[in-house]
Amino acid sequence: MKHLQKRIERHIETIATFTSTPGKGTSRLTYSKEDLQARNYIKEQMKASGLNVKEDGLGNIFGKLVGSNPDAPSVMIGSHFDSVPNGGSYDGPAGVVAALEVANLFYQHNIKPTYPLEIVALVEEEGSRFGGGLMGSRGITGQLSEEEFSQLKDKNGISPKEAMQSIGLDPSLPKVRDPKTMKAFLELHIEQGPVLEEKNIPIGVVESIVGQAEYHITVKGQAGHAGTTPMNKRSDALVTATKIISELPSFAIAEGNGTVLTTGKLNVFPNGANVIPDKVIFTVDIRSGKEENVQHVIEQMQQSVEAHQGNGIEIDIEEKLYVQPKALSETIRSLLKEKSENKDISYCSINSGAGHDAMVFSDFTEVGMLFIPSKAGLSHCPEEWSDAADIANAVEIFYQTAKQLTEAEE
Ligand SMILES: [Zn+2]
Repeated sequence: MKHLQKRIERHIETIATFTSTPGKGTSRLTYSKEDLQARNYIKEQMKASGLNVKEDGLGNIFGKLVGSNPDAPSVMIGSHFDSVPNGGSYDGPAGVVAALEVANLFYQHNIKPTYPLEIVALVEEEGSRFGGGLMGSRGITGQLSEEEFSQLKDKNGISPKEAMQSIGLDPSLPKVRDPKTMKAFLELHIEQGPVLEEKNIPIGVVESIVGQAEYHITVKGQAGHAGTTPMNKRSDALVTATKIISELPSFAIAEGNGTVLTTGKLNVFPNGANVIPDKVIFTVDIRSGKEENVQHVIEQMQQSVEAHQGNGIEIDIEEKLYVQPKALSETIRSLLKEKSENKDISYCSINSGAGHDAMVFSDFTEVGMLFIPSKAGLSHCPEEWSDAADIANAVEIFYQTAKQLTEAEE
């Protein structure tokens, strides 16, 4: 275990040197010089574990251990290797490194699987260069058309095709993969939040990627002079809006199950110090791992709005976004829990409040995801840190899980 931990630390430290902002965190834009350096390192590691290495038309890297049935679908393990500007050393690489070490265990134990094992290192998850994010996984699953791809540009007007060619990648290679070639996708990611650290639990088995609803609420009142309009003759849009806003968090708290609600934006009109506000627009962002919790909070929000109508106040609710929560594979979740128990590694169930490549794959194959604690819950900053011992735990759990999945009969 100590040996594995040392190997993991060395990988993380090496990949962290491939940054365009040394001393100021990891900045590794997709198809940059630093991408090429990290890419070459990952490919070398794959080869050292006896994997056949290939890249697709997006520059995603695949290292494959061919099974005894070469046409069988692959058990894939991986994450992304790009970063946000001035980010940390773990968001993405932790998952790639864990996958590399699972392959190394297969190699060391000379395991000949029935189903292929495939280690995957994905590009442009963060969207830091071309925007949008999740480009690698969306490309593989056919959710990024050639046309959309060819229209992308970075802030200097460089297209992904030009950028790929500049580091020797071939954008004309196939991008989309038949879902029939995928048996499962496993991803380790740092939690990027404080829950596991606070509970002092080394492994989170991700139950679902949270659903999200976003609303814009417009409160209309009557403008008036701040000095001459008596208090009992006012229809103050801001006073009403703040009453609603202050009620909303209690609905999420009462719901529990990690349900969260945020008002992050507030626009006041006309926004003058001596004018009674006649219009206020604010946002409500609701997230939960269970759709019924999201739905229930929405109902209570509507009732609260209803109750504040009248006396010259009119309120309008507009739905801007509604994404259903995505439950990850129950079969894989219970496998991950079983393997953790066998290894005496304590775990808890957790929801992911952020999107990940795993979420994209979950519409096409069986997906399992593990989280490890993030120090102080910090991420997307140079201070981002996770313990290599926790990554080693995840490697052990994935190794046992992948062994079973690559052996299992249909
Ligand atoms: Zn990430």
